[in-house]
Amino acid sequence: MKILVINCGSSSLKYQLIDMENENVLAKGLCERIGIAGSKLTHKPAGKGEFVIEKEMPDHKVAVQLVLDALQDAEHGVIASKDDISAIGHRVLHAGTVYSDSIVVNEDVKRVIRECFPLGPLHNPANLIGIEACEHAMPGKPNVAVFDTAFGMSMPEKACMYAIPHEYYEKYGIRRYGFHGTSHKFVSGEAIKFAGLDPETAKVIVCHLGNGASISASIGGKCVDTSMGLTPLEGLIMGTRSGDVDPAVVQFICNHENISVDEMLDILNKKSGILGMTGISSDFRDVEKAKEEGNHLAEVALDAFRYRVIKYVGAYIAAMNGVDAIAFTAGVGENDADTRKEVCDSLTYAGVKIDEEANNVRGKATMISAPDSKVKVMLMPTNEELAIARETLALV
Ligand code: ADP
Repeated sequence: MKILVINCGSSSLKYQLIDMENENVLAKGLCERIGIAGSKLTHKPAGKGEFVIEKEMPDHKVAVQLVLDALQDAEHGVIASKDDISAIGHRVLHAGTVYSDSIVVNEDVKRVIRECFPLGPLHNPANLIGIEACEHAMPGKPNVAVFDTAFGMSMPEKACMYAIPHEYYEKYGIRRYGFHGTSHKFVSGEAIKFAGLDPETAKVIVCHLGNGASISASIGGKCVDTSMGLTPLEGLIMGTRSGDVDPAVVQFICNHENISVDEMLDILNKKSGILGMTGISSDFRDVEKAKEEGNHLAEVALDAFRYRVIKYVGAYIAAMNGVDAIAFTAGVGENDADTRKEVCDSLTYAGVKIDEEANNVRGKATMISAPDSKVKVMLMPTNEELAIARETLALV
C-alpha cells in the first residue's frame, strides 16, 4: 500500500510517497511560492536525480495536480497511475479540544479544522486547503488528518490549564495544547522499543530540539506535560522564538516602542530566540561558530538554550517522580553532541551517566548513556512523515 503524506503551509506543500510494505520513501518533494510569482516544484524520486519544475501554481489545487503529474511522470515518476495511491495523510496543526487522535476526514472533521482557524491562523487554513485539493484531485480516496495537538490532549488539567479566569477557557478554549505532537508520539514510542521498556508504564522525556523546540513527558505513551502552550511560542528558547517570558514584557515594550500587541508577538515569534539574543542567526551552527570565535552573546544564547532544556527536563522528572528514558531528536538533538552532553551532565542527580564516546554520533538511533546509567539516554531521529503515514495506514 502506498501512502501520500502532505504537509501544507500557506505558500508551500511538502510531500512524501511512502511504500508501507517496507516503509521506503519512493519520492519526496516541495512546492514553493504557491500563489506567489515564481513558484516551483522540486521532486526527488528515490535513487534518481532531482527534478525541478518551474511553473506557476496559483493555488494548492494546481500544486497537488503537479505533484501527481510528477509522481506519474514517465521519466521521473515512481507510480504508473494515481490509483496506486491508497490514501493521503495530512499534517494538520490544530484540532482544539475535539480530537485526541488522527481521524479519517469527513465534513465534520473539516468543520472542526475550520473552527480552529483562530487557534492556528497560519497553518489550519493551509492544511484544509491541502485536504480539499486532494479530495478534488483524487475523489473517493481516504484523507486522514494527523493533528499536531493530538498527543497533548492527554495532559491532565493541572498541566494544561492556565491560571487565568476560567471563562477564557470556556469562551475561547484558551489552554495549553502542545505541538510537535506527531514527533513526540513517534520518538517516545521508538524510544520505548529501543530501550526495551514496558510500554504500559515507561516514563519518557523527549527533547525535540530543532529550529522549533519542545519537550514532552509521557507515561505509558500518554503525554502528561509538554512545553509548548496555546501556541508554539511557550517553553524553550528556539531559533527565532523566545519561549517563556513574563507577559509584562509585552506590555512594557509595546508602551515604550509604541507598537501593537500583534507586532510584539511577531517579534517574539520571528525575531527572538537565539537570533534575537545574538543578532547573528537563528541557525544553531552559526551561533556555535560565533561562540568559538569569542562572541559573548553567542555564548550566553547557547548557555541559556541549554539551561532551559535542563530546567524543563528537571521539572518533568519531578512531575513524573522519575524517568526511565530521555530521547534527543530533531536538528540540534540529532546532531549536536555538546548540547546532549551538557544536558546529561546536569542530570547526574537523577542517575544519568553519559557515554562520551557513544555520544559522538549523528542522526542515527544510538544509546548514548553508559551501561550503568540509571536512565537510558538516546539519540532517536524523528520522522514525522513516516509517523503520519503509519497513522494513516492504521485508519484505512
Ligand atoms: P525545524 O524542523 O524546526 O525547522 P530542524 O529539526 O530541521 O528544525 O533543526 C534545524 C536546526 O538544527 C538548525 O538551527 C540547525 O542549526 C540545527 N543543527 C543542524 N545540525 C547541527 C549541528 N551539527 N550542530 C548544531 N546544530 C545543528
